[in-house]
Amino acid sequence: TNGNRETQKGEGKLRERVIETTQITKTYGKVLALDHVDICVKRGDIYGLIGENGAGKTTLLNLLGGLDVPTEGKISIRGHDIGSLTRKEQTIFRRRNIGFVFQNYSLMPVLNVYDNVALPVTFDKGSHVDREHIRELLNELGLWEKRKRYPSELSGGQQQRVAIARALATSPKILLCDEATSALDPQTTASILELLQEINRKFNITIVIITHQMSVVRKICSHVAIMKSGEIVETGSVSEIFSHPKSDVAR
Ligand code: ATP
Repeated sequence: TNGNRETQKGEGKLRERVIETTQITKTYGKVLALDHVDICVKRGDIYGLIGENGAGKTTLLNLLGGLDVPTEGKISIRGHDIGSLTRKEQTIFRRRNIGFVFQNYSLMPVLNVYDNVALPVTFDKGSHVDREHIRELLNELGLWEKRKRYPSELSGGQQQRVAIARALATSPKILLCDEATSALDPQTTASILELLQEINRKFNITIVIITHQMSVVRKICSHVAIMKSGEIVETGSVSEIFSHPKSDVAR
């Protein structure tokens, strides 16, 4: 069963802080990729990270997803201080809680749609592939008919749908999307954004999405952080930032 469906969004009451970073810094040699970054993402948010090239967006997303570790500072996911877990615990925690969607889809070319989507579950030892769940997922995302196709036989938009289905296969609570739509044409972009919105509402999955496009932020995000040179310049609800931008970058 899908645990994400059980809980309501909890409007009105205090929403859970799903992701919280405290003064995280990341350096690569002499490059300061992130400089004392604090963000707080609450349950049910669609949180946009926007900023010019090299602002630190991907670095931040990778740290949130446990693909890399901060040089300094603390990352808390659903109340767990990630740095205090052992590597093994981190891996398990990540698989159970976090799904990743990348710009280039990163599908396995030798596996068909079904097997690509089921792949993360087969990685998770002690977890068997729930065929019913995979079938439901493929149905929900309009991919059932395509289940036997290979990635090379699909359009970019279809491949991104498969990548999103794969990210949802382990029933994560958080979906991290790195430029999920930047390789797609406007119409396909719109349909993928609608899909993400639907996933957010239906499964109450919290989404963090990197984008270069303000139109993406305006269309689906509830909150946004504007980054520049490794720092968060401004953060808040999308309506707040669009109506009262405080920084030059935001304007
Ligand atoms: P883009 O929009 O171009 O993807 P970004 O906002 O995602 O940019 P990052 O990719 O996070 O920015 O990069 C932030 C800074 O850190 C850049 O100066 C980049 O060159 C540097 N950087 C990122 N990853 C590495 C790495 N693995 N080794 C060295 N430097 C890195």
